[in-house]
Amino acid sequence: MDCLFCKIIDGDIPSTKVYEDDFVFAFKDIAPIAPFHCLIIPKVHISGADQITAENSEVIGKVFEAAAKIAKQEGIESFRIINNCGDDAGQTVKHIHFHMLAGVKMGWGPESLGKTE
Ligand code: 5GP
Ligand code: ZN
Repeated sequence: MDCLFCKIIDGDIPSTKVYEDDFVFAFKDIAPIAPFHCLIIPKVHISGADQITAENSEVIGKVFEAAAKIAKQEGIESFRIINNCGDDAGQTVKHIHFHMLAGVKMGWGPESLGKTE
């Protein structure tokens, strides 16, 4: 399958690994929008959050387990996790991924959507 993030998991495309276990892989985002910005992805290819089913949802818990471990590992006390699903939401890579952002005081409200129109 021609998937950028599957290639990163396989090591065919280099990345800066933050965390890995049997279920998930986490690596630094190439274009960080916060002082700490990594992507947490399941090793199994799921194209987006709209493809989560009773059969594959367990791995999403693993993603959040990984986030808690990464927070401890990196000494992070406060973080935000974002998943973009679909084009309007800004999903550019069609392998489900969770942005973990930290290291800055973040705003919250309509403006945090970063609307483009
Ligand atoms: P999305 O916009 O789909 O929610 O997020 C995709 C993210 O993947 C973006 O933040 C982008 O910077 C990151 N990204 C795209 N290509 C690469 C890459 O080759 N390596 C890494 N580490 N991150 C990437
Ligand atoms: Zn993939």
